[in-house]
Amino acid sequence: MPGASRPVGGPGLAQVRRVVSEIPGPRSRELLARQRGLVPAGVGAVLPVFVEAAGGGVIVDADGNSFIDFGSGIAVTTVGNSAPAVAERAAAQLRRFTHTCFLVSPYESYLDVCEKLNELAPIPGEKRTILVNSGAEAVENAVKIARAATGRPGIVVFDHGFHGRTLLTMSLTAKNKPYKQGFGPFAPEVHRAPMAYPYRWPGSPERCAEEAASALADLLDRQVGADNVAAVLIEPIQGEGGFIVPAPGFLGRVAEICRSRGILLIVDEIQAGIARTGRMFACEHEGIRPDLITTAKGLAGGLPLGAVTGRAELMDAVPAGGLGGTFSGSPVACEAALGVFDEIEAGDLLERAREIGDTMLEFLGGLSDRHPVIGDVRGRGAMIAVELVEQDGDRVPAPDLAARIAKRCHADGLLVLTAGSYGNVLRFLPPLSISDALLEEGLTVLGEAIAKETACAG
Ligand SMILES: *Cc1c(COP(=O)(O)O)cnc(C)c1O
Repeated sequence: MPGASRPVGGPGLAQVRRVVSEIPGPRSRELLARQRGLVPAGVGAVLPVFVEAAGGGVIVDADGNSFIDFGSGIAVTTVGNSAPAVAERAAAQLRRFTHTCFLVSPYESYLDVCEKLNELAPIPGEKRTILVNSGAEAVENAVKIARAATGRPGIVVFDHGFHGRTLLTMSLTAKNKPYKQGFGPFAPEVHRAPMAYPYRWPGSPERCAEEAASALADLLDRQVGADNVAAVLIEPIQGEGGFIVPAPGFLGRVAEICRSRGILLIVDEIQAGIARTGRMFACEHEGIRPDLITTAKGLAGGLPLGAVTGRAELMDAVPAGGLGGTFSGSPVACEAALGVFDEIEAGDLLERAREIGDTMLEFLGGLSDRHPVIGDVRGRGAMIAVELVEQDGDRVPAPDLAARIAKRCHADGLLVLTAGSYGNVLRFLPPLSISDALLEEGLTVLGEAIAKETACAG
C-alpha cells in the first residue's frame, strides 16, 4: 500500500470501541488468506485482525474496527503504543544512524539504558547490565553468566514457568504443548521444582509457601546436589503460566535457600517488570534482592530489547568476547527504552498501574461473587487474571469456556488474552495509557461475555 494516507497511532487516536464488521472483517480475512501462503502454520494469532494503528488504549484494524486493548502486545506496550517519548526518540535516532554494532563502535544511549537499569534494579551493591534483542536471549545470557561465575552447570526452574522458545529457554519452560512438543531433545542440567501456586496447592493454602520451599530445598540437597546448581530461575509473577502470584513469603524463602547454598537467584521480570505491576520490578513487592534480573517485553515500548542486570562481580566473570551480538542493544531500541523511562516518570505510571489494578480487582471481585466459574482472581497492578473452572467441579479447569469468552470479547471489540498451564486463564494487561472510561467499558464487555457464555453453557 502506498504510504500517503496511512493512519497515525499514539494517544491522538480516537479513544473509542467500534465494531463495524464481523471479526475478523473482510480485509483482515483477505490478509489472513495471504498469510497462509507465506508464513508457516506454527505462527498463530490470538485475534487475527491486521493492525493499522494503535495508541492510548485502542488498536484499529484494516476494516476500521477499534478494539479496547487489554493485551499490550503481551505486556510490551506498557507505556502505550507509539507513546510520544518513545516514537520521538526512536525517530530522531533513525535519522542520526541506524546501527554500528555496539561490539564494533559503541554509542552513549546503550550506556544510558544500562545506567538506568543499574540504578533501578533491586540488586545489592555495584551492578552491570548487558543489552540483548529479546526475552529468550536475556534468559540465555543470564544462564551463561551464572554458570561462568559459579563454575556449576545446574539450573532449577519451576512448574508453570515460561522462559522462551529457544532450545535452552524452552527446556527451562514447563508446559509441553505448544512450546516443546516435537522439539526435543532438550538442554540438559535443567531441574524443576513445584511452584507455590496457592489456588492449586494440594492441602492448605496457608502452608503453600513453606511446603513449596521445603520441596525446593529437598530437590537441591537430595536430588541434584546444591554444589551442582548455578542458579534458581523464577518469575516473580508467572506470566504464561496464568499470572500465578507466588504464595506470600515464598520468594523470600527461595532467596534464603539460594543464599545459604551459594546458588544464584535469577528473577525473570520479562513479563512482570518495567512498571507493569505498579513497581518498576515485580519482585520489589516481596522485598527480595536477586543476583541477576532479566527484562525485555516492556523495556523499549515495542522495539526489540532485552537486558540482564546483575551484581558486578558476577557479570564481570565472563571475559571479553563471551557476551554480545550483532544487533544487541540497537541504538534505535536504546532510544526507545529511554523514552519508556521518560514516559514512566513524566506520567507517574507506577501509580497509574496501581489504580488500574484496583479498578480491575474491584470489578472482577464483584463478578466472581456472581459467577462460580471464576475460581480465582489474582495479579498485581495492570497484570490481573481470572482462572475459570467448571461450575460444579472441584476446581476443574475450564479451557473451552476461557476460549469462548475470549472469542466473544474479540467479537465485541475487546482484545483479551488467555494463558495458564491448563489454558483456562483470561489475562488482562492494559497499557498504562488507557483512559478510565475505556478501562471500565472493557470490563463491562468482559462481564457481559462471561454472563452470556455461562448462560449458554447451562
Ligand atoms: C515472554 C517471556 C520470555 C521470552 O521473551 P521473548 O522476547 O519472547 O523471547 C521469557 N520469560 C518470560 C517471563 C516471558 O514472559
